[in-house]
Amino acid sequence: MASGRFISDGPESSLMSGISERFRDGDTAKKVVRLIRELAGDRRIRIVHVCGTHEDAIMKFGLRSMLPRNVEVLMGPGCPVCTVPPNRIDFAIRLAESGAVLTTFGDMMRVPAGLGSLVDAKARGADVRVVYSIHDAAKMAMETDKQVVHFGVGFETTAPTTASELLANPPKNFSVYSAHILIPPAMMHLLKSGETPVDGFIDPGHVSAIIGEAGYREVTDHYNVPQVIAGFEPLDILFAVAMICKQLKEGRGELENAYTRIVRPEGNPHAIKLMEEVFERRDAPWRGIGTIPHSGLSLRKEFEDHDASKKFDFESEANYEMPSGCRCGEVLRAVCYPGDCPLFNKGCTPDSPIGPCMVSQEGSCFISAKYGVEQL
Ligand code: SF4
Repeated sequence: MASGRFISDGPESSLMSGISERFRDGDTAKKVVRLIRELAGDRRIRIVHVCGTHEDAIMKFGLRSMLPRNVEVLMGPGCPVCTVPPNRIDFAIRLAESGAVLTTFGDMMRVPAGLGSLVDAKARGADVRVVYSIHDAAKMAMETDKQVVHFGVGFETTAPTTASELLANPPKNFSVYSAHILIPPAMMHLLKSGETPVDGFIDPGHVSAIIGEAGYREVTDHYNVPQVIAGFEPLDILFAVAMICKQLKEGRGELENAYTRIVRPEGNPHAIKLMEEVFERRDAPWRGIGTIPHSGLSLRKEFEDHDASKKFDFESEANYEMPSGCRCGEVLRAVCYPGDCPLFNKGCTPDSPIGPCMVSQEGSCFISAKYGVEQL
């Protein structure tokens, strides 16, 4: 079990400054944990967050081990790469193997699907390239006569850049294969399914910076569940846990914003407008979870000349089953921790991943392996 590591506990203190320093104070953390203990009492509380960066901070600073045993924080479907369904990866592989240049972000390369991974496709001779931004992919298209297709993956944080590129009059041989998905519908799905009890959500800071407090309206309109928008420093997360415990104690189920230094109530109107101009919502499949209504973004008809799903027609591959023993689906549905998987750090490691949650740097299994298992 990792123990809490805070700025006042170690030599790294001299390296920290400003906001990080204020939000990593060990003495304050201990006071907040005492408050959490008082507010929670004996009640079992399960809080879910939906963000790989939150999980990274939780593991890096050993926050789970600081909490009382009856207060759990689990990661849900907060990894956009882990949740891309295999048939979409197969489609991308088919595209690349048909002669197109397929671009994507590095995290997608090793995720397994029915036809293998994009790395396997590259090894077989397909032209698959890692880019740091969709703009690099569009520039590539200007320098070749080949079709260049960008495999667009990510939540509300990356979808605006995809939209922006499509609005910038890209070359005719450039298109996007959109696997963009949205966080609030996934939160709704967890609450609706009831498979895992969710007493409160820590809402993701980055996504919230785009969609604002208003972006969670569909959740707050339907469910009386405490939500706290939180930043990524250890005290941000501990404060969010305390605020959720306080709401539960007072019988409230509201959205609170504890990240006002970044997140405005209205979010980022420019980014929202870009998304609305280019995308429309559709039901979308999530790996390990199933189809979630209105959770995906597909390109509007006006952009069909740049929509790879319309320009190219490939059959879906046969169903891809998760490898035997892999519990990624349950990890993504916040039913269990990575360490509950029998393959964790045995057959499945970051160097030799079996499931998608061990491939992506935002995957819960990868993060647990990186910092050492820590769970209740
Ligand atoms: S440890 Fe590996 S096999 Fe197990 S759930 Fe995680 S990714 Fe899947």
